[in-house]
Amino acid sequence: MPFADIIGHEHAKTLLRSAILQNRLAHAYLFHGDDRIGKRLLALRLAQTLLCETVSDGRQPDACGTCRACQQVDARTHPDFLVIEPDQEMANPQIKIESIRDIEHQMIYRPLIGNRKICLIDEADRMTIGAANALLKTLEEPPDHSLFILVSSRPYALPATIRSRCQALRLTAPAQTQVEAAVILKRELPPADAHFLALLSDGQLGRALECDLEQARTTQKEFAAIFSAKGLQSFSTVLAAAEALAKGDRGPEAFDWLLRWLRDILLIAVGAGSDHILNLDQRAGMQALAEHIDIDDLLDLIGDLEKMERQAHRNLNVQIALETILLRVRQLLTPPGTADRSR
Ligand SMILES: [Zn+2]
Repeated sequence: MPFADIIGHEHAKTLLRSAILQNRLAHAYLFHGDDRIGKRLLALRLAQTLLCETVSDGRQPDACGTCRACQQVDARTHPDFLVIEPDQEMANPQIKIESIRDIEHQMIYRPLIGNRKICLIDEADRMTIGAANALLKTLEEPPDHSLFILVSSRPYALPATIRSRCQALRLTAPAQTQVEAAVILKRELPPADAHFLALLSDGQLGRALECDLEQARTTQKEFAAIFSAKGLQSFSTVLAAAEALAKGDRGPEAFDWLLRWLRDILLIAVGAGSDHILNLDQRAGMQALAEHIDIDDLLDLIGDLEKMERQAHRNLNVQIALETILLRVRQLLTPPGTADRSR
């Protein structure tokens, strides 16, 4: 897979390509940015581009994606491409000093095939202090043929001494339309589903590509029923829904879907277009609700719900929280006259 295949990150790609062309690549890069936006993928492509055995036309350095070297980088079997990542078996995954020492020895030797030896350190912020200090020594006097690519979504957790030795490239999530285009292309899905997955994944391409569409649509329908006029019809339906969700340990999920639901209504109430509306198929019903809603009350509710979502994983009685919030939603969304509010 070539560089050109990567969605977004135009700035980083241009910068890296021109550095390759002008033969002034740094010895160490730090690719940082939010989770699952393609940082490691970009690092892999850079490694492939540098190790690829197919000669590119010289103007646009790129990987062919099909030669032996490209495949070996993909499979992590290329002798000049080393990967370090935290041990995921551990409760608190870390990169230990032993891994760094091991790499350090290997990086000293000249490359076996290509003219560069590349070390990718994924989730570099998970290095122990000992590991970071060991790496620092190597970064201070890197062998000429070496390239280190550190990847991190928490760069602030890296020692400043390490960061100062790396050229930092901040990567940002691709635009929603780019995520949609990629989902359509790679998953061969219709635009409506791509739109849904892009929004549901909050623009994180990795998640949008992996998300189980059928499951997500089923969950969407399930929550749409709970939040519908019928679902909110009486106290007893609301309380039963809250109880079932709490018992199924689905509090955080419920808060998330409810938030997305309310944000959709807010967007419709303020007359926004469809671009950011997740539950597009519910638009007509939401439109009717939005016409009667008090926007200040809606904003208050969204604010409180966001607070609750942040606390959902600790000491919160999920059932009571869900009951309270769903009853507030009921009060807010049930237009006067359609249901007996006192029931
Ligand atoms: Zn190749």
